[in-house]
Amino acid sequence: MRLLLMGPPGAGKGTQADELAARYNIPAISTGDLFRSHVGQGTALGVDARRYMDAGEYVPDAVTNAMVAERLSSPDCEAGFLLDGYPRTLQQLGELDRLLASRGWALNAAVVLTAEVEELIGRLIRRAVTLGRSDDTEAVIRRRQEVYAAQTAPLLDEFRLRGLLAEVDGLGPVEEVTARVCDAINGAPASQPATS
Ligand code: AMP
Repeated sequence: MRLLLMGPPGAGKGTQADELAARYNIPAISTGDLFRSHVGQGTALGVDARRYMDAGEYVPDAVTNAMVAERLSSPDCEAGFLLDGYPRTLQQLGELDRLLASRGWALNAAVVLTAEVEELIGRLIRRAVTLGRSDDTEAVIRRRQEVYAAQTAPLLDEFRLRGLLAEVDGLGPVEEVTARVCDAINGAPASQPATS
């Protein structure tokens, strides 16, 4: 199973990614978590990425693409994977398409968790109080929603055109959302290796 998990910040991608990874026995790869791990370890990539993350902006595509390509070359990704929060720009999608084609891999579905923006902003502000993430101030939270709408929402049209988009209501108890995602995925096309 090769899945993408998309949705605006606060829609519950991380929680659903863990549930789905366990259910399908595939690694959940979160670019946000990979960046946070670099930040935590103080690597050069982390120092660079943090400036963008703290402002609510996307880390440059070249940095993000290289990090994902390296992660996807791990043996644990051979039988499948779930990408949480990647691709987020059309340029990243182009790079992912090239990488998948070079391996003869195809995606099964691009799941998008939908939710109303003001509800998400409220959720993220509550999360900021408990987790204290450095990109969880109200101004940055609002900026992240704007960046998603401007740069990532256009990818949904592309996945719809490809017949891969599974739109799932992200509001409600975790198990209910997971059940909705699984229903949507089970109707998804089986993975066909790319011919090129
Ligand atoms: P997330 O935990 O998925 O909300 O990501 C946290 C932050 O990491 C984002 O606000 C971006 O700054 C950065 N980030 C995560 N994934 C990407 C990506 N695919 N492209 C660029 N920046 C990303």
